[in-house]
Amino acid sequence: MYIGNHLSSSKGFEHMGKEALKLGANTFAFFTRNPRGGAAKKISAQDVEKLKAIMTENNFGRLVAHAPYTMNVCAEKESVRDFSRSMLADDLQRMEYLPRNYYNFHPGSHVGQGVEKAVEMIADALNNAITPECQTTVLLETMAGKGSEVGRSFEELKAILDRVELSEKVGVCFDTCHVWDAGYDIVHDLDGVLKCFDEVIGLDKLYAVHFNDSMNDCGSHKDRHQKIGEGKIGADALLAVAYHPLLAGRPFILETPNDDEGYAREIAMVRNFGQ
Ligand code: FE
Ligand code: FE
Ligand code: ZN
Repeated sequence: MYIGNHLSSSKGFEHMGKEALKLGANTFAFFTRNPRGGAAKKISAQDVEKLKAIMTENNFGRLVAHAPYTMNVCAEKESVRDFSRSMLADDLQRMEYLPRNYYNFHPGSHVGQGVEKAVEMIADALNNAITPECQTTVLLETMAGKGSEVGRSFEELKAILDRVELSEKVGVCFDTCHVWDAGYDIVHDLDGVLKCFDEVIGLDKLYAVHFNDSMNDCGSHKDRHQKIGEGKIGADALLAVAYHPLLAGRPFILETPNDDEGYAREIAMVRNFGQ
């Protein structure tokens, strides 16, 4: 299985590859730029080649890059929306250094404009940013539904996906904490939730998993991640997700509140369960 965590990109791509190996990971996530700001560092092609060599040698799964949190392509303020749209387009250009990986982003918050308007804006931003040459698959993240977050239901994500012209280049990243907080009971009815996903969106569109426990109850709309086995979802239910045959082969990314030691332990725990 492919499992890893979020790594800091501050020391470059090769460094992330080495860090992943140290933690026992064979995939990882990274922010394409400062998660709270907007500035992007220049990419060194040489540095990227070194990461690619590490990935090939160690049979890595696809990477799951993450857009900055400040990106909101459905913001009401035009200046924020325009800045977000250009970040999205620029990030996808930069991802071409690492072809055939994933780029995950939060669909956005509509802040009172309503979901329908937001859905149009998000789809429009994607249609503007994704070119026919683009080798990245862009993933919409399932959201907890905190505030006015768009993507709190599979139907909302489907509405966006349906409006994307180059539909083979978009999909979904399934965040276990978020779907639980959104009200999908993966503890008592994982099969039912996956069936629902399949009927609404299609499991062939589920490309990656954010693998987190939650501090809160199902349907709480809170979005507070917890360590695996220390939250309300629990280790048994999360391991059932990790080893569900319908999700086999996807990269699983930990976004749990941990230090390196904690990540290494969680990665080993998930791996060892299958042995
Ligand atoms: Fe996220
Ligand atoms: Fe996530
Ligand atoms: Zn979250």
